[in-house]
Amino acid sequence: MNPEQKLIDRYAAALMPNYGQPMLTLVSGQGCQVWDAAGDEYLDLIAGIAVSALGHGHPALAEAVAQQARRLAHASNLFMNEREIELAERLLALLGADGRPGARAHGRVFFANSGTEANEAALKVVRRAQAKRGSPDRRAIVAAEHGFHGRTMGALALTGKASIRDPFGPFGLDVRFVPYGDATALKEAVTGDVAAVFLEPCQGEAGVVPAPDGYLAAAREACDAAGALLVLDEIQSGIGRTGAWFAHQRDGILPDVLTLAKGLGGGLPIGACIGLGECGTALDKGDHGSTFGGNPVACAAALAVLDTIEADDLLANAAAVGEQLSAGIAAVTHPLLAGVRGRGLWLAALLTEPVAGLVESACRANGYLVNAVQPDAIRLAPPLILNAAQAVAFTAALPGILDATATAEATGTGHVITRPLLANGQGAWREAGSTARPHGAGHPGRPAPENGVRRPAEAGDDAGHPGRPAAGAGPAGASGAVAQPAGPAGGEES
Ligand code: PLP
Repeated sequence: MNPEQKLIDRYAAALMPNYGQPMLTLVSGQGCQVWDAAGDEYLDLIAGIAVSALGHGHPALAEAVAQQARRLAHASNLFMNEREIELAERLLALLGADGRPGARAHGRVFFANSGTEANEAALKVVRRAQAKRGSPDRRAIVAAEHGFHGRTMGALALTGKASIRDPFGPFGLDVRFVPYGDATALKEAVTGDVAAVFLEPCQGEAGVVPAPDGYLAAAREACDAAGALLVLDEIQSGIGRTGAWFAHQRDGILPDVLTLAKGLGGGLPIGACIGLGECGTALDKGDHGSTFGGNPVACAAALAVLDTIEADDLLANAAAVGEQLSAGIAAVTHPLLAGVRGRGLWLAALLTEPVAGLVESACRANGYLVNAVQPDAIRLAPPLILNAAQAVAFTAALPGILDATATAEATGTGHVITRPLLANGQGAWREAGSTARPHGAGHPGRPAPENGVRRPAEAGDDAGHPGRPAAGAGPAGASGAVAQPAGPAGGEES
């Protein structure tokens, strides 16, 4: 029995089956590369679901964690630790609304350990804030269809996908769902009994679906008009993923509450619920808590993430490489590819058929880790340090990956033939990246995407595919192929 199969068996016997069976064991990583238990190398284009902002093994993160762990690994909420204070100050400064140097948003931070916990805190904050306004009975919440806010009972109640929510109800919360992006429906739903509106600036688990321009501003307006509070869940979109510190910043609004997690800790578990204005002081002593929240090691990691994003200008990198990746995908013409949407290093390649599980599997077989976020959408959320050559390598490999998917689909085996790209222990993506022509500045002539979706290149589109290797220079043939079961059909929420 091969070592991977042994791990699969042990996993299945020891862990609850709630995630299904993951297909790969990751054992190490460096930069944007990771290695599995068999020593095969992959380009990590999903970063642990938009978490590993600095990639893997980043010295700044490793050093900050090691130093803090040696000094003081845990303090609890019985005591202060300076790292949590520093991190709260930094986050408030990043949210500073008026742009003055040193200015910071008037607010307060509660630290949790995950995204769902950050949203649980937000639910309690808005309840308390409304009570302090003299409206304790104002309890309804408006949230968006297809939204995702977490798996604990409060956050799950706000999650707009019935198939994962309903088996666990009732939740004791009055949640009203509206179609995402429809400002009129939102305005109508925000009535006098609504405590708060919870929204993602771009719906990640729904398939990286950005809010239409003006939607967040309309939500802000609707909340203000009705006396409701606006909670923005930036757990996936925050901390540089879209090329800005927070995705909502391009909309020129401020929420009352902002929730963060994922990329904030760069791989260490941390969540943050930031209350602005009255929401910063809505919780009184005894109202909420967490033993681990504000943990000094997690906060030290988060500070290292923020420092590195600043020092290495990773917001600009996310914007520029994200644009290259998006343009590169849009330039691929393939019957299975419908287009690409998203911003920064947070994209969805859209498929014409519900074969995302097979595409994910074909990507893996070719040395790329991606995520079948929906049956017809592949999510890319790579580390913010991804470089242009790595983006080019993936877009160059994409036609072959889609061909392999089509073959697997046509043969009906549900298996993708692994091309032995990694047989020599060297990542094919590196070879492709180093031999490909530089990607240049994307596609200057390409018009702005309509409805956030970039369509594939038209026939005759001269944008071509700068990174695609010449015919014959693609992946090696399928000799020595290893069949791997296809991943899930897609649509697995984190
Ligand atoms: N909110 C959003 C927008 C998310 O994308 C997620 C996770 O995918 C969560 C909340 C839940 O975060 P966690 O899995 O850390 O609890």
